[in-house]
Amino acid sequence: MGAAAPRRVAIIGAGMVGLSVAWFLQEYGVEVTIWDRKGVAAGSSWGNAGWVSPGLTTPLPEASVLRYGLKSLLRSDAPLYVPPTLDLSLARFLVKFARRCNEREWKRAMNAYVPLNNIALDAYDALNLAEETLEITSAPIVAAFQWREQAKDLLKEIEMINRAGQPVKSEMLSGAELRESLPQLATTVNFGIRIDGQRYIDPGAFTTRLGAAVIGRGATLVTPNEVDSVRREKSAVNVYGSDGASSSFDAVVLAVGAWMNRLGGPLGVKMPVAAGRGYSFLVPSAETVAFPIYFPAVRVACTPMGPKSLRIAGTMEFRKPDYRLDTARLASLMRSALPLLDGLDWGQRRDDWVGARPVSADGMPLIGASKVPGIFIAGGHGMWGITLGPATGKLLADQIVKGEIPDQLRPFDPTR
Ligand SMILES: Cc1cc2nc3c(=O)[nH]c(=O)nc-3n(C[C@H](O)[C@H](O)[C@H](O)COP(=O)(O)OP(=O)(O)OC[C@H]3O[C@@H](n4cnc5c(N)ncnc54)[C@H](O)[C@@H]3O)c2cc1C
Repeated sequence: MGAAAPRRVAIIGAGMVGLSVAWFLQEYGVEVTIWDRKGVAAGSSWGNAGWVSPGLTTPLPEASVLRYGLKSLLRSDAPLYVPPTLDLSLARFLVKFARRCNEREWKRAMNAYVPLNNIALDAYDALNLAEETLEITSAPIVAAFQWREQAKDLLKEIEMINRAGQPVKSEMLSGAELRESLPQLATTVNFGIRIDGQRYIDPGAFTTRLGAAVIGRGATLVTPNEVDSVRREKSAVNVYGSDGASSSFDAVVLAVGAWMNRLGGPLGVKMPVAAGRGYSFLVPSAETVAFPIYFPAVRVACTPMGPKSLRIAGTMEFRKPDYRLDTARLASLMRSALPLLDGLDWGQRRDDWVGARPVSADGMPLIGASKVPGIFIAGGHGMWGITLGPATGKLLADQIVKGEIPDQLRPFDPTR
């Protein structure tokens, strides 16, 4: 470690992103303190779909999202929902986001994602936890459709991902072929695309174990304690907690997910980050489900959790991150998935959950130095913070310790 490298670093936010930064800083011998207002994995890193799927990790703003969004706007049972409120920061976010929903912007953002996606799986391997601690399953993801016509957007996207330099191995299958390995697919499903070479985790369990591992390696966890502000004062960076106490560090990393605007704004983060709230629940399955399943037409992701249950996840609702869980949206998620799956015991649904994806207005993560020396940002990963958390942690730790911006991070400058 060079002489100027920080020795004591605070991380605000104990989600997948913050804990990954912590882990990789520890690899350099940095002493880490982690703050969270609620606890480890208290935000969106808990009940999400858990796909570690660089093959599908693409910028959210694209032409079809806008088409789809405009059709479903204000319909409270639609997979994409914007409630009619007078929220000016949300309006500002939506205008910026909509401007990026075109092919040119998508390609530009995709070119930035490719080098990050390409190291995503290696970064998971580098976490290098003991075998029993780190459970990650290699599996294809099957995108399933009622009609072949519904697959045209995804097929085009796969072609564009390949053209951007990110190899995605995929195969088209009939409904009958799909049901050979996934008998849970109802006969209403007639067409599918198998995307090979992906992985998945139980994200809540994984993040909890990562938190325990980071603490086992010497980190201090300060929770529950909401951080009110982070300020550079003389040669130190001070963290002020809601309990009124403050502590000094050589550097601080803000990894506060969908809560980024309040703390990040004064530090030069101009890009709005909105809470794209998603829902999930678990349903028991009569048989083990072999792979994750994606239903793009209704925007639903399903992931095997344990031997005989399936997590059903989806919907995107732009509201304040701490708004209550809306049971009507869970019911609508269930209605979308029900005709497409067999052999599930829907009556035994459990673990209802809502979590706020940190969606940046240009669909790209915010990773790097803020405008204030010694304060760094790691967030805005939107749909893909599980896949990209460890890669983010690795590269940002390199930057903090070595003082040089890794090439892969240049497009993600958080002050852009
Ligand atoms: C339904 C759904 C499905 C998803 N599926 C996938 C998937 O399959 N694959 C994938 O890659 N991604 C997926 N995602 C996205 C993924 O969950 C997020 O991108 C990721 O969890 C973001 O991690 P994070 O660490 O940035 O944020 P979070 O996990 O939200 O962590 C932020 C933490 O900061 C804390 N915090 C906030 N403000 C403060 C403060 N002032 N002081 C102290 N602490 C604070 C919060 O308590 C929280 O614990 C999904 C999301 C949803 C909602």
